[in-house]
Amino acid sequence: MAPAYVVHYSEVALKGKNRPEFVRALRRNIARSLSGLAPTVELREGRFMVTADGTAEEVADRLRKTFGVAWFSEVAPVGLDFGEIREAVLDAARRSRGKAFKVEPRRSDKAYALTSRELAVRLGAAVQEETGMKVDLTRPDVVLRVDVTRSNALVYSNKTPGPGGLPVGTAGRVMHLFSGGIDSPVAAWLLMKRGCTPVYLHFYLAPTPGTALESKVTKQVKVLSSYGGKSTLVLVPFAEYQLATAGGPGDLEPSLFRRFMRMTAEALAPAFGAVAVSTGDSLSQAASQTLWNIASFDNGSSLPILRPLLAYDKDEIIGMARRISTYDLSLEEYKDCCAIITRHPRTRVKSGLVDEYVSRLGLRDLVLKVLDGATLVSYNPVGDVLRSSPLADSIPRAQAAKADL
Ligand code: ATP
Ligand code: MG
Repeated sequence: MAPAYVVHYSEVALKGKNRPEFVRALRRNIARSLSGLAPTVELREGRFMVTADGTAEEVADRLRKTFGVAWFSEVAPVGLDFGEIREAVLDAARRSRGKAFKVEPRRSDKAYALTSRELAVRLGAAVQEETGMKVDLTRPDVVLRVDVTRSNALVYSNKTPGPGGLPVGTAGRVMHLFSGGIDSPVAAWLLMKRGCTPVYLHFYLAPTPGTALESKVTKQVKVLSSYGGKSTLVLVPFAEYQLATAGGPGDLEPSLFRRFMRMTAEALAPAFGAVAVSTGDSLSQAASQTLWNIASFDNGSSLPILRPLLAYDKDEIIGMARRISTYDLSLEEYKDCCAIITRHPRTRVKSGLVDEYVSRLGLRDLVLKVLDGATLVSYNPVGDVLRSSPLADSIPRAQAAKADL
C-alpha cells in the first residue's frame, strides 16, 4: 500500500466565506504538486488524507512547496479499537529509537469512549512497559501523536511545517515585471504565497528571444513553477522603444522606461485575466525606488500596483531568495545588456513630466508595436515541458489596443 500522509491547512487562514473554494483549490494543488506519484487526496474531517508513491522525502519536498499547507506528517491510519491504536503507537515508539517520549492524543471525535487524558495515560504506560522508554513531558526525544477521528485513528510522530499562506490560484492573476535579478523572483514567490498567480513579463534587448529563453530568466520561472504550478512568461523586445526614445532627456530615461513597462503590463492584463501589476521594488533600494519615483510609475494606472518587497531590506530579500532557490540563478551572467543605465538618475521625478513624455514620444503606440514582436512562453513542471510561440498567435493586437493606458 502507498504510504499515507495527513495534511493540515491553517484554520485561521481559511476563515470566512471563501473557505470551500480555498479547500477545493488546495486539494487540487496538492494533487498537482504530487503528480507523477499516483496521488490520492481526500478531504476528511477538516484535514486531507493523502497517499502517494515515492519516498517520504520526495513527498515532503513537494508538500513543503505547496502554499496553504500548514503542516503534514506520514501517518499510520488504524481502526478505532484501543488495541489497534496501542500497537501502532508501540510501533512508532520503537522506530523512533528515542529514549524519552510523550504521548499527545487529540480527539476530533469527542464521542470516543476514552478521553484524551485516559488515552495518554494508558498509551504512555504501554510504551514504558514494552520499550523501556521514559516519559518526559517537557523535553521528549519523540512525541507520539494520536488523532482520533470519527472513522479512524491516525498515529504519527514527526510534524513537518508546510509553507503556510494560501493556495495559488485563489487570489487572482497579476502581471509581474520580472527582470531575472534577485528581487523580482522573491516578489513573485511572496505573491504566490498569498494565493496570486503571476504572469511573468520580461523585457529584453537582444535581436531575438533566444538569449532570454536560454537565460536565468527562464530558469528562475522553472524554479518558481515548483511552487505555483504551470507558468506563463511573456518576453517583450524593447529595441524599438529604445530607438524611438533616444532623443528624450537622459536623466528621465529610467522613469520613462519603467512607465513603459507598466503600460505594457496593463495592455496585456485583460487578455490574461490579470487584475493587478507587480514589481520587485524595495523602497529606496535604488534611485528608481524612491517614493517620488514610485509615484511617477503608478500615476494614472488603471490597475493596482503591488510591491510585496517594499519594506524588506536587501539582506532579508537575499535570505528569502536563497531559501526558495532562486538566488544562485540571479547571479548568473545574462548577456542581455541592461540598456537603461543612467549615471545620475533623478530621485524625485515629477509624475507630470513623465506623463508629458509619454504622449510626446508616443509610448502608447510603442507598446502595441513591441507587443507585435513578443513571445509567449508556457512552462509545465509536470513532464518539464517548455513551449514558446509568437504572442500575436494567441493575443491579437486589437485585444491589447483596447486597454485603457
Ligand atoms: P531585481 O532584482 O528584481 O532586478 P533590482 O534591484 O535590480 O531588482 P531594478 O532593476 O531597478 O531593481 O528593477 C526594479 C523592478 O523593475 C524589478 O524588480 C522588476 O519588477 C522591474 N524590472 C526591471 N527590469 C526589468 C526587465 N528587464 N523586465 C521586466 N521587469 C523589469
Ligand atoms: Mg534588476
